[in-house]
Amino acid sequence: MAIPALPGGTIGVLGSGQLGRMLALTCRRMGYRLYVFSPERGSPAGQIADREISAPYEDLDEVRAFARAVDVVTFEFENVPAATATAAATYAPVHPDGHVLRIAQNRLREKTALAEHGFPVTPFRAVASAAEVQVAAAEVGLPAILKSAGFGYDGKGQAALDDASQSAAAWAAVTGYAGTGMPTDAAGSKPAAILERRVDFTHELSVIAARSAGGGRALTYPPCENRHEGGILDLSSCPAEVPPAIAQRARALTCDLMEALDAVGVLCVELFLTTDGDLLVNEIAPRPHNSGHLTIEAAATSQFEQQLRAVCGLPLGAACLHRPAAMANLLGDLWSAGPPRWERAAAIEGVSLHLYGKAEARPGRKIGHLTALADSPRQARSLVSTARDLLLSAQ
Ligand code: AMP
Repeated sequence: MAIPALPGGTIGVLGSGQLGRMLALTCRRMGYRLYVFSPERGSPAGQIADREISAPYEDLDEVRAFARAVDVVTFEFENVPAATATAAATYAPVHPDGHVLRIAQNRLREKTALAEHGFPVTPFRAVASAAEVQVAAAEVGLPAILKSAGFGYDGKGQAALDDASQSAAAWAAVTGYAGTGMPTDAAGSKPAAILERRVDFTHELSVIAARSAGGGRALTYPPCENRHEGGILDLSSCPAEVPPAIAQRARALTCDLMEALDAVGVLCVELFLTTDGDLLVNEIAPRPHNSGHLTIEAAATSQFEQQLRAVCGLPLGAACLHRPAAMANLLGDLWSAGPPRWERAAAIEGVSLHLYGKAEARPGRKIGHLTALADSPRQARSLVSTARDLLLSAQ
């Protein structure tokens, strides 16, 4: 089989945030050229890319011209319209394929497709009105979480439901968030959301896998263990401190899922390990994942190099870890007490700083991350949290 892009070739990326930036840095190192396409200008990825095309995703003539100029197209942002991926595919291979993107873009399609393939998911029902939320609550059980089917990320577009009497308020909160962007049901008439049983879990895990366009079995990294604050990933560590049999099951499930969807590239599966010892898929992301940033320092091959290798049809790199690691996200809130004290984090051995080149440090916005390597995941978490606390000027 012909290899789509060898070093010297050009990668096209739809989206231009930090994931594209870290891919662009890898492309530079490995001798690839990289073009990014997004509505932004001076974006995190655009600052590193060979070319930044700033146009709406809906401008399909621009999308086709972009695809003609590159050897292979991939994503760093999954809310790219499906028509954009289809237009690009007329001129270049697109990995992962548009059908994987379409599944990941919408929680209802995602949960339905995964359940149909036999993967374990949280109990859920599709709902399209406050009255349907009430009925679904009786079916899936309470407590539950109402989630907009699309356009949700980092816990946005969600409302908790402890009691069926909260159905109308939860519906108003979720439809109010999504506004005119609220996805519709199959008939295209009513807004769509899902009501999901809130599961009791001991761990939130993520498994990152890669599968090459050149063929062969998918390859996984050891599972990461994730902690969220306010719906946003706060801290990840790897390897997850779970029994080996659970880690093995999570990795096998991720490989099977990637193969079942015939996905090429990098894909992350977020899982709950329930108090009963079951693994349930929460969601999938068909791209590198925030929890995998620690692979840059900790693994033989980073998730970004793996994405590059996979979409170019090269053999995958080894996905083993050199050392236990932890990653702490840096949000714009860090600036609230004055400029962060970078020199303090820089003084800690084993801690690396990544900043994404974002012009504005708004609260809740991811502007960078820290990675720490240590002798155990627990030590790495402690080190990275200490380093992050030290950044705060007021400390
Ligand atoms: P999501 O946007 O689906 O990733 O949800 C954001 C966070 O909310 C997750 O990482 C969990 O911490 C929590 N969460 C989401 N769905 C559930 C659920 N069904 N049961 C318990 N916690 C959940």
